[in-house]
Amino acid sequence: MTTLLELDDVARHFPVRDALGRARGAVRAVDGVSLSVAKGSVLAIVGESGCGKSTLGRLALRLIEPDRGAVRFMGEDLRGLSPRALRARRRDMQLIFQDPFASLDPRMTVEDAIAEPLKLHYVVPRGAERTRVHQLLERVGLRPEAARRWPHEFSGGQRQRIAIARALASGPKLVIGDEPVSALDVSVQAQVVNLLQDLIRELGLTFVLISHDLGVVRHIADRVAVMYLGRIVEEGPAAAVFAAPRHPYTRALLAAVPGTGAKAAPIEGDPPSPIAPPPGCRFHTRCPFAEAVCREQAPDLTGADHRAACHLQDRLPPPPVLRERVAG
Ligand code: SF4
Ligand code: MG
Repeated sequence: MTTLLELDDVARHFPVRDALGRARGAVRAVDGVSLSVAKGSVLAIVGESGCGKSTLGRLALRLIEPDRGAVRFMGEDLRGLSPRALRARRRDMQLIFQDPFASLDPRMTVEDAIAEPLKLHYVVPRGAERTRVHQLLERVGLRPEAARRWPHEFSGGQRQRIAIARALASGPKLVIGDEPVSALDVSVQAQVVNLLQDLIRELGLTFVLISHDLGVVRHIADRVAVMYLGRIVEEGPAAAVFAAPRHPYTRALLAAVPGTGAKAAPIEGDPPSPIAPPPGCRFHTRCPFAEAVCREQAPDLTGADHRAACHLQDRLPPPPVLRERVAG
């Protein structure tokens, strides 16, 4: 197993100012995350909105700089790269955004949008771009004639297919999808998920799926990392995380998945502010199992292949609802 992407204790805080410009602390969006993604695998990063998962995705692609920690792509530390070397690396790493309306320039035809990365990275010889654009469109389930049209002429699902074709144009090794289907109609979501799944398989892509939708994640992920307030609280093989979650937060997320027959036993209250996360275990203000130690000591991620950051992970009562659901 080759590691394609590795994050080592990565952190990024964003300063917060009030209306008068006075410093008011910092949002600890990502606060010490270590992860590795095996070549050809699909890792899902899940958590509620504001947990830091989108920031983590951008740090992984070095679209934003970490305050600390290393990001290595194919063994190479992205921090040390010159802007020029980084531009060349962009060919290998692409991002698919949530909103296909925002990610496609309305003033560019579909052909121009997809040909842009082809030209930027000299993927095909001059003059061969059009043929390649047509191939890419067919690969994402659109007709070559779509090339002549404008983004506004397409539905949300079609537009996301165009954005996917554009992301694939440079022949990336790593693709990060930040909620790639959550802006789409539910009826279209499954089609786009299936498309992504086919592409991942056919092209041998390494894919990081950022999502709050565990239904989608279950479909496509090999491994799952669960984030809460800037940290990973659980990480492991998808099957194990879904069947036997080791962290109370993961359990609560799974219990809240609609349409699974689970009684909604969701998480009490809103997540605390990422500006002033609670001391000790950051989940203790909402955790039904919290004990004194939880308020004082931050738990480390422990375990071998399936890790969790919970002091009580080995003595939590079994989650009955989940047991039934997984068996059924
Ligand atoms: Fe709950 Fe304590 Fe585990 Fe945190 S460490 S998740 S508060 S039981
Ligand atoms: Mg987000």
